Amino acid sequence: MTTHEILKILQEEIHTVIVATVDSQGIPYTCAIDLMLLEDETLYFLTARGKSFYQRLMSHPNIALTGLKGEDTMSSIAISLNGRVRNIGHEKLKDIFEKNAYMNQIYPHLESRDALEVFQIYECQGEYFDLSQKPIFRQSFSVGKEISRQGYQVTDQCIGCQKCYQVCPQRCIDISVKPVMIQQNHCLHCGKCYEVCPVKAIEKVGV
Ligand code: SF4
Ligand code: SF4
Repeated sequence: MTTHEILKILQEEIHTVIVATVDSQGIPYTCAIDLMLLEDETLYFLTARGKSFYQRLMSHPNIALTGLKGEDTMSSIAISLNGRVRNIGHEKLKDIFEKNAYMNQIYPHLESRDALEVFQIYECQGEYFDLSQKPIFRQSFSVGKEISRQGYQVTDQCIGCQKCYQVCPQRCIDISVKPVMIQQNHCLHCGKCYEVCPVKAIEKVGV
């Protein structure tokens, strides 16, 4: 999937996501916001100047968010990202109201819309995580920056004993090669292979 396709699911199909911000003392808060617009790989949302959420965005312009789709855990798709936002004032406000007609009911008058300001997620990295597939499917993406990889990888110290494969809950380790190879798009990042490897041939990548 392309980054645009993943972000399109987030903006159009999921739409309402839970976003985390921190205040000036580093205390985290979450709230629900609607992702209003997607242009190429850039997402936009808005909030009112009087809200605490607005103050947090202005003092610490970093966010993390997660959107979920599906009826239960085993049919769920989660898309998460973290990144940086910038305030673009009233730019895109008209486009947002045209695309999201329900906003006209919440802010019916032009005067009331003056309190709203738009934020752009201009840089982020994230992950698409699909529990409905077997084995599970995950894909990283980024906008405006390099993807910093996370998970586990096998080094040249591998002796091919296959102990990692035997404990892997997703059987996502290719044992037809040596060193064996973790199929990253199907890995849960559970770390069990790392724990059992007798020669410490598996290393953790990222934070
Ligand atoms: S447990 Fe370690 S040594 Fe054995 S196959 Fe897996 S990575 Fe290689
Ligand atoms: S981290 Fe877990 S899911 Fe991924 S390869 Fe290792 S045992 Fe399998």
